[in-house]
Amino acid sequence: LSQLFRPLDLLGMVYRTVRQGVIDMGAMFDLVDTPADVTDAGDAAPLDVAKGHVRFEGVRFGYGDDREILKGIDLDVAPGSTLAVVGPSGAGKSTLARLLFRFYDVTGGRITIDGQDIAQVTQQSLRAAIGIVPQDTVLFNETIGYNIAYGREGAGTDDIHRAARGAAIADFIATLPERYETRVGERGLKLSGGEKQRVAIARTLLKDPPILILDEATSALDSRTEAEIQTTLEAIERGRTTIVIAHRLSTVVHADQIVVLDAGRVAERGTHTELLRRQGLYAEMWNRQQAERDLGVAAE
Ligand code: ATP
Repeated sequence: LSQLFRPLDLLGMVYRTVRQGVIDMGAMFDLVDTPADVTDAGDAAPLDVAKGHVRFEGVRFGYGDDREILKGIDLDVAPGSTLAVVGPSGAGKSTLARLLFRFYDVTGGRITIDGQDIAQVTQQSLRAAIGIVPQDTVLFNETIGYNIAYGREGAGTDDIHRAARGAAIADFIATLPERYETRVGERGLKLSGGEKQRVAIARTLLKDPPILILDEATSALDSRTEAEIQTTLEAIERGRTTIVIAHRLSTVVHADQIVVLDAGRVAERGTHTELLRRQGLYAEMWNRQQAERDLGVAAE
């Protein structure tokens, strides 16, 4: 299953950065944030976020081969509301999120935030306005405090601790041998998928962006961890315009709007109740996941 930022994209950028001789921890992190072939318009102004109203208007996109991945997408995400994007694997869900972050430029139509075309504003200001909680969080071989602090330059100890509490990882950190100074990552303490995701949530809380992209983990978390993370995520979504790329429908029931993407087009849209009533693709996916869950419960 694809991720928001593919390892290959990242490798390409690591290569480019190494070539420029500027590799360091800061650059490593920025890589994840730096679009590949996107440049600022000559007269690019900083994005002015008033409310965080996100719109996709007739968006078309392909990755450069002949295949068109998005074939005219219209979305309207009201300020502070949550849009969940669901659909079969390969439908283009993560691609939508990559375009909002301007990881790539659209090939048709436009994306606006509070009326400003994102292709016309500086990338730095765009990225500052959007927080991403990815499927798989990259941790540095550094302390857990450092890993959280990456959310915001110059974050103080109090801010870091507050973010850790907000992400429900503070109690866990308190049990570590050197607490916030404990080294994590490949050469340190290995964190579970759920713990890593909480580090990402803590980073995002520090960043405090008006717009949020959540790329839900496909990897199986145990149901208790999943429920806990869900509660934490709902807390950070409050008051922010949020786009959730969802793989499990049970997590999108509360969304203000659900869009079912199929082969690059919006097949259905509505609330959970409306979509169930339609008895279309969403209802089919829902029934299948419920049946799988019941089978899983029966097997336990
Ligand atoms: P999943 O549920 O499996 O994560 P998705 O709906 O998020 O899938 P996308 O990751 O948006 O799907 O991919 C949509 C299509 O675009 C797929 O056919 C995929 O193979 C293709 N694609 C994704 N990333 C790239 C890329 N970097 N280069 C070329 N094709 C890509």
